[in-house]
Amino acid sequence: MEYMALYRKYRPTRLSDLVGQEHVAKTLLNALSNQRVAHAYIFTGPRGTGKTSAALIMSRAVNCLTPTAEGEPCGQCSACQRILHGTSMDVMEIDAASNRGINEMRDLRDGVKYLPAQEKRKVYIIDEVHMLTTEAFNALLKTLEEPPEHVMFMLATTEPHKVPTTILSRCQRFDFHRIGQQQLFDHLQHLVQLEGRTADEAALRLIARRAEGGLRDAVSLLDQCLVASEGNLSQKTISGVLGIVDERFIMAMAEAIAAHDGLRIIKGVELLASEGRDMRLFLQQLLEFVREQLLLNMSGQKTMLNRQQALQILRDLVDGDQRLRFSLTPRLTLELALLQAAHLENAAM
Ligand SMILES: [Zn+2]
Repeated sequence: MEYMALYRKYRPTRLSDLVGQEHVAKTLLNALSNQRVAHAYIFTGPRGTGKTSAALIMSRAVNCLTPTAEGEPCGQCSACQRILHGTSMDVMEIDAASNRGINEMRDLRDGVKYLPAQEKRKVYIIDEVHMLTTEAFNALLKTLEEPPEHVMFMLATTEPHKVPTTILSRCQRFDFHRIGQQQLFDHLQHLVQLEGRTADEAALRLIARRAEGGLRDAVSLLDQCLVASEGNLSQKTISGVLGIVDERFIMAMAEAIAAHDGLRIIKGVELLASEGRDMRLFLQQLLEFVREQLLLNMSGQKTMLNRQQALQILRDLVDGDQRLRFSLTPRLTLELALLQAAHLENAAM
């Protein structure tokens, strides 16, 4: 059987299934059951809190042929099925982070004029909308100013302050919240049951804590741990799986290096040491991240590190990795390698 990530397998299919976003679900269901759906919505909030899931459910809810009395999509009708399987011609998902949307927005501006091909409404879902270029924003604004009856926009962003107010003012805004520890824990426990497995309470609490309010992160961590173990999921298994340093920490350290921020680097290494992490494993993860930044940059994508930064950091870290291999004082060697890569002489004093 094909392996399917837990997060996708148990993606919510009804608004009332959204974990920790009851305030959003309630208002949207109200609008749906009273036929007062707006033309444009913007969902804001931290990553992995259900914004895109909610947008997808909305795209089904407005097109469902037999919605429930509460306004939820039935999940069974032909429209629901098409949209669920991503085969509907009228539901468009645009990821503004990977392509900054100039062509897409132009297509969109031309496309909205036409009636939907299959469904009742054309739905445009634009993820990470704050990444659009000014030109793309202008094109989007034109359509938002006079949206045709048959079109609905669902925008999602982790950084609403980067979205022009002209856009924001034309959308109904919903703020998605970080999900509380207890709610995350309950949800994880539910998933473990659905998967026919068992887990120690402490183990699940650890995952809930590590996810910092993001459902997607929590479920992916659980997924990794379930795959990595057999039988009951214990706290020990989870610590082992979490031995790999969190990606956000890697990003933060790369950022500190690029910003010549010696203090943050020292604090970061201190944290690694206090958690008993393998210094070399960490450096290798960091190297991998910087290398990926370089590759993305060379393929013309927008990256956190520019090409020159990535090249220089990569060179210094490769040197550091060589020294770390034979070091008897790995913590100190790592610290020195990172500080060298940060070129503190370039820092503003
Ligand atoms: Zn339906």
